[in-house]
Amino acid sequence: MPGRDDGLNPFELALQNFDAAADLLELDGVVRDRIRLPERELIVHFPVKMRTGRVTMFTGYRVQHSTARGPAKGGIRYHPDVTLDEVKALASWMTYKCATVNIPFGGAKGGVVCDPKEMDVHELENLTRRFTSEISIIIGPDRDIPAPDVYTNARTMAWMVDTYSMHRGHYAPGVVTGKPIAIGGSYGRREATARGLVYVVAEAAEQLALDLRDARVVVQGFGNAGSIAARLMHDEHDSRVIAVSDSKGAIFNKDGLDPHRVIEHKEKTGSVVGFPASEPIKAEELLALECEVLIPAALENVITADVAQKVRTRIVAEAANGPTVPEADRILAKSGVCVLPDILVNAGGVTVSYFEWVQNNQGYYWKEEDVNDRLKEIMVDAFNHVLVTSKRHKVDLRRAAYVQAIGRVAEAVSWLGIYP
Ligand code: NAD
Repeated sequence: MPGRDDGLNPFELALQNFDAAADLLELDGVVRDRIRLPERELIVHFPVKMRTGRVTMFTGYRVQHSTARGPAKGGIRYHPDVTLDEVKALASWMTYKCATVNIPFGGAKGGVVCDPKEMDVHELENLTRRFTSEISIIIGPDRDIPAPDVYTNARTMAWMVDTYSMHRGHYAPGVVTGKPIAIGGSYGRREATARGLVYVVAEAAEQLALDLRDARVVVQGFGNAGSIAARLMHDEHDSRVIAVSDSKGAIFNKDGLDPHRVIEHKEKTGSVVGFPASEPIKAEELLALECEVLIPAALENVITADVAQKVRTRIVAEAANGPTVPEADRILAKSGVCVLPDILVNAGGVTVSYFEWVQNNQGYYWKEEDVNDRLKEIMVDAFNHVLVTSKRHKVDLRRAAYVQAIGRVAEAVSWLGIYP
């Protein structure tokens, strides 16, 4: 995903990806124009009572990029740098991610310009409840379903579902996903992104005749997605996690780190740094380590053209959104690295969000193993479809995922036609 500080307009960059795939599909004028632009963009300015008693005005956005394949779906981000163009880009991306794994959702995203690190819990609650109220004119279980994103979490979702339900006069759990289990969240949601990623890595490894047992795994970003991916590679495939990092530094052990113990260490100390059975390495060395599976799970735009020249891996699995810049993609392709693109490989999170919504609508809750089995079926199926598309069009997996996703959205838009 386009970075925050690169001076490029994120929505313009998203359109470049769209146009490249639309050209391959030879999409005609009207359908193409309809998918290029978001269906709806809501900007709200609203007051929030702060702890000092003063009232501060905030600005928030909710963008629905597409509802052609189902209700719009996408997270809410709290960050000082949120812009409308960023939210538009992220919303379009959600449309393509949901279409890649073929779940019946469109794409949306929301954001509030704020600095959550400077706000206390009451201010965050006030902000969340008022923002929910402002956007309640366009969200709803059948219309647009928010979820957590940067600096929002299950706690935020609980405030949102309560506020929305108060407006409607009845409990409406399907209005958001990523909720705590006690109020209608799904088992398996917390692990879903990493679990989905590991299913796809296993499929790709089979295609490459790569044995994951003892395969060296490197993970940048030891948070929700990265730490669980490391643990699952270790536990389920006997892979050797040789290096991991977080914002404070990177650690290495050529014989393998025990991800369970690194997770405990990070919980205790706040970082992976200082883990006993490891040596520190420089953050920039991490991406250049020789390995079989490299998992960027932190930020966007970390695999630049320069970094790509140094990467020595068989597979890059993009847990993070947009970690690889386009020029780096070309370099990795030339060196024969298999890049599993974000809109495919990290779609496990939104897939289990879809399961959460289905369970809320049915009022019937699944066991964790049912969630995981169904997640596997969807991820494996999506990977195989993308692979076939990549062979048919002779393009890399990223372009193939876009072609597949945009083709599906275009088909829906064509069937729906134009009203009136
Ligand atoms: P998180 O906040 O739990 O973890 C992020 C981790 O990255 C933290 O450990 C942080 O210390 C580390 N980090 C930050 N800057 C770093 C740097 N410069 N070098 C190395 N590590 C750094 O976030 P998350 O939910 O795991 O998300 C990580 C990425 O995965 C994001 O790009 C997110 O958009 C993407 N993603 C997450 C999900 C999900 O369900 N969690 C779904 C899809 C995509």
